[in-house]
Amino acid sequence: MFDAYEVIRNAPMREYTTLKLGGPADWLALPRNGEEIAGLIREAREAGMPVTVIGHGSNLLVLDGGIRGLTIRIGRNMREIRRNGNRLEAQAGAMLSALAAAAADAGLAGLEFAGGIPGTVGGGLAMNAGAYDGEMSQVTAGAEGLTPEGKAIRLNREELAFGYRTSAIQGSGIIITKAEFILEPGEGKAIREKMAELNRRRAEKQPLDQPSAGSTFKRPKGGFAAALIDQCGLKGFRCGGAQVSTKHAGFLINRGSSSRDFLDLMRKVAEAVEKETGIRLEPEIRVIGEEEAAS
Ligand SMILES: Cc1cc2nc3c(=O)[nH]c(=O)nc-3n(C[C@H](O)[C@H](O)[C@H](O)COP(=O)(O)OP(=O)(O)OC[C@H]3O[C@@H](n4cnc5c(N)ncnc54)[C@H](O)[C@@H]3O)c2cc1C
Repeated sequence: MFDAYEVIRNAPMREYTTLKLGGPADWLALPRNGEEIAGLIREAREAGMPVTVIGHGSNLLVLDGGIRGLTIRIGRNMREIRRNGNRLEAQAGAMLSALAAAAADAGLAGLEFAGGIPGTVGGGLAMNAGAYDGEMSQVTAGAEGLTPEGKAIRLNREELAFGYRTSAIQGSGIIITKAEFILEPGEGKAIREKMAELNRRRAEKQPLDQPSAGSTFKRPKGGFAAALIDQCGLKGFRCGGAQVSTKHAGFLINRGSSSRDFLDLMRKVAEAVEKETGIRLEPEIRVIGEEEAAS
């Protein structure tokens, strides 16, 4: 199967996620372009296999049983970024940090917020990633991709239907291959300084030296997840090797855990916060794959 493509059989997903958790993906493909993705989808459909798309795996909890079927990772083989006047066009596997750096190099402002988000353009669009008052919706002109049937599709900004940490891509099965961003002329040095300042603030507040998927929960109405978790005395709270970071209570980290531990911790934290404050925390991270079969 998939003979014409770069694929890894039984790929351990802990090597492909920033949380460093998760069982094997049956087949992990690393395509180079839209044609390869279409070919992979065709073969998977013919074999009756489910298809999952991932980017850098920085917002994912993959369960211990791993992912059945074909997992398409849009990453290192699709990282081209091109400038066209005030616009940047990027392949979906380009890292947001590289996109922000390319914007700074070109003297284009608007992507400074994205410089420290450790995901790809495709993942950033799917999640409408954002930070420090910026988010992908503000700079995205449109995107290209493939439907679950493998047909080419173009989506403009309205069709991408961005919301808070979501977009029309979430759950649609559409695979983004390319996106275009509209930026404002700026001054390279000032743009770079702003990015450095935001990255300093990030490093000061976030446990960047520990495996995580960033903020585990979305910001609830009327509060901040980290403040609510802290208020409930849960900093440092553990389930097995999964722990609420002592540096930033919004980050749940892996200190030698299983995905099971991590899910238990997410559930217990959400229950405790709801009991204490009446506010229900919803996960921001995407949970995919299968639980390990009971032995
Ligand atoms: C230390 C740390 C800090 C973080 N800080 C922030 C932050 O400030 N703001 C923020 O918003 N997030 C943050 N995150 C979370 C994460 O980086 C973002 O959500 C990012 O946009 C995810 O991109 P990814 O490529 O890793 O996607 P993945 O985690 O691989 O996937 C996330 C979702 O996007 C979908 N997806 C990925 N690529 C594609 C594609 N090509 N086509 C269609 N769907 C696709 C997947 O199916 C999945 O549903 C942080 C994470 C970490 C580890």
